[in-house]
Amino acid sequence: MARVLVIGGAGFIGSHICDALLAAGHEVGVLDNLSTGSRGNIPSGAEFFQGDITDPGETEQVISSFSAEVISLQAAQPSVVSSISSPLNDATQNVIGLISVLEAARKQTSPPKIVFASSGGAVYGDPALIPVSESAPAQPASPYGLSKLTGERYLELYRSLFGLRSTVLRYANVYGPRQNPEGEAGVCAIFTNQALADQPMRIYGDGSQTRDYVYVGDVANANVLAVDRADGDTINIGTGVETSTLEVFNAISAGCGITKEPIFCPDRPGEIQRTALDISKAEQLLGWHPRVTFTEGIAQTIAYYRGL
Ligand code: NAD
Repeated sequence: MARVLVIGGAGFIGSHICDALLAAGHEVGVLDNLSTGSRGNIPSGAEFFQGDITDPGETEQVISSFSAEVISLQAAQPSVVSSISSPLNDATQNVIGLISVLEAARKQTSPPKIVFASSGGAVYGDPALIPVSESAPAQPASPYGLSKLTGERYLELYRSLFGLRSTVLRYANVYGPRQNPEGEAGVCAIFTNQALADQPMRIYGDGSQTRDYVYVGDVANANVLAVDRADGDTINIGTGVETSTLEVFNAISAGCGITKEPIFCPDRPGEIQRTALDISKAEQLLGWHPRVTFTEGIAQTIAYYRGL
């Protein structure tokens, strides 16, 4: 069992990682500035430290006082759209914040392993081959994709300079309970929220664009496995299945009992047209595969938002 510090553990994915780590018997700490996360998401079994990773002193103090053996780095500015309107903030959170964590980690007497949340949608850009494997060229189409790729490169550099252990998990589109429906990312949460409020759902583009939707509980399990498996690897976490925005719209409309037509809006810059991830490496190195189907996951997501 390990002492795992989940940075960003008050957020959507981070809080599910905390739940899964505790269920597996690990000791869990959370470092979060509560900018998009909430205190209520943090399970009671986890120790909470309020702080900001862009503050190097605060970061080092928490990592050291918690005696972290593993750091699960989920904290980030997670929106493609915001990264285009505010690239300086994106780089501050996603690059400077990450360097602050790496610096604090490598200075520890027993440096913790880092498990880093990267993006399998934003790092590859528009892939030539689908499903896209980890060896495909990285061609980010947004500051967010570039800052995630830069984070991955920093991990490689700290491995060669200081021997810092790390694993990169490139998530597909993660959905499920506790995703923020007020944000610009997270179409499943946004559509569900709009449907339950009897508002029309907005589709950017013609709805034919595809994504690989992976349930948050499955992503949390991959993070638990990465605590003591895989080192120095970059691993896709998705389903390998392409689902179009129109299919998401139809599934959520049906699940919520809605018959309203969607409103079609112009496509947003920085968004890719099609993607799905090749997940064979995750099966090989982590012994991981997704368990929750899209139909089951959407039903759980709708049930969660209905209960709020
Ligand atoms: P989220 O916004 O729900 O969670 C991020 C958490 O980090 C929040 O609790 C926030 O308060 C905290 N945080 C942000 N900046 C911080 C800082 N400077 N210091 C301390 N805490 C800070 O986002 P999420 O959807 O749960 O995403 C988690 C990670 O997964 C992110 O790194 C994101 O880029 C990555 N990711 C998400 C998806 C997705 O589909 N949601 C896909 C690919 C990658």
